[in-house]
Amino acid sequence: MPTINDILDLRRQFEAEIKENSKTAYELLKDKRFKDLVLAIKHQDPKSRQAFGQAINELKQFLTQHKKLKSKDSFNIDENFDVTAPLNINQSRPLNLPNLINGSVHPIMKAQNDLVEVFVKMGFDVIESRQLDSQFYMFDSLNFPKQHPAREEFDNFLLKQTDASGQPLLAPAHTSTMQNRVLKAQKYLLDEDQVIACVIPGRVFRNEDVDASHDHMFYQLEGIYVGKKVSVANLIATLKQAMSSYFQQDLKIKIQPFYFPFTEPSFEFAISCPFCDQTKTDCRICGEGYIELLGCGLIHPNVLKQADIDSQIYTGFAWGLGLNRLTMLKYGIEDIRHFTSGKLEFLRQFK
Ligand SMILES: [Zn+2]
Repeated sequence: MPTINDILDLRRQFEAEIKENSKTAYELLKDKRFKDLVLAIKHQDPKSRQAFGQAINELKQFLTQHKKLKSKDSFNIDENFDVTAPLNINQSRPLNLPNLINGSVHPIMKAQNDLVEVFVKMGFDVIESRQLDSQFYMFDSLNFPKQHPAREEFDNFLLKQTDASGQPLLAPAHTSTMQNRVLKAQKYLLDEDQVIACVIPGRVFRNEDVDASHDHMFYQLEGIYVGKKVSVANLIATLKQAMSSYFQQDLKIKIQPFYFPFTEPSFEFAISCPFCDQTKTDCRICGEGYIELLGCGLIHPNVLKQADIDSQIYTGFAWGLGLNRLTMLKYGIEDIRHFTSGKLEFLRQFK
């Protein structure tokens, strides 16, 4: 029966193999020696199982951090990345990053980084969203029927360029465009009796009349989780735990029914206001004790089918959280346009 020491030994071997370039971290993630240890988790003594599983998870994180997994669609999986960096550090990290003494992290990126960190600690992978996509990923893969009015709720920016089927490409209006890619690329995890767990930060674009609370570009954090017997209870527990960690307090939650074509059932998810004691009625932020934070639900069986996942065996949940609104709530920012104004007097407040 393998022990934690075997995991540590394997890590030393893997480090050596990566250093000698004899194997990539991607190959090592699929290596039989690693897989055997993963399979050994369930045979561990109940007393040692948690520590053993945690050590496996650390080894997995080491590998995913070390080398990005490249799927057929060629997007990057990374533990953490800086989308504000001037060079494409997601492909090769330069040694000399610009000196940040005179700058600061944009408040939306701060929110994104903090939230991503919470989910990575919970075992989620991170995949960057795209800023150009096709109608298939925007609608068809997400169970929007053809000619359905829900398609028109998204007033997309269309390009002159078309995809192979002749449909104009578009700037995605939500990060859910990534769901089909992630499900397909990580389906192999289900076959290995693991789960798909990913968060997907990204920019989204809508043809909005710009005002204090609407912008034509904003940020979302998408999340998906798929496995066996995943229920609404798992959805609620995961988001409650994640939001409580982000706000560093024990939040209460409320959900109410909603409609999205790609989840069934769908919910609006509200948290107890982290900025007041929920008894005052004059809170600047919540008004009545709760804040509607995001849309979520159980992934529609048709969305799983589009990724060739058997919806009779596997279920999952997904959510989409608006980072601009979250950041506005947190800091009491009254106008969404400040974020992209480039005004130093605005940005320096977050230094
Ligand atoms: Zn409040």
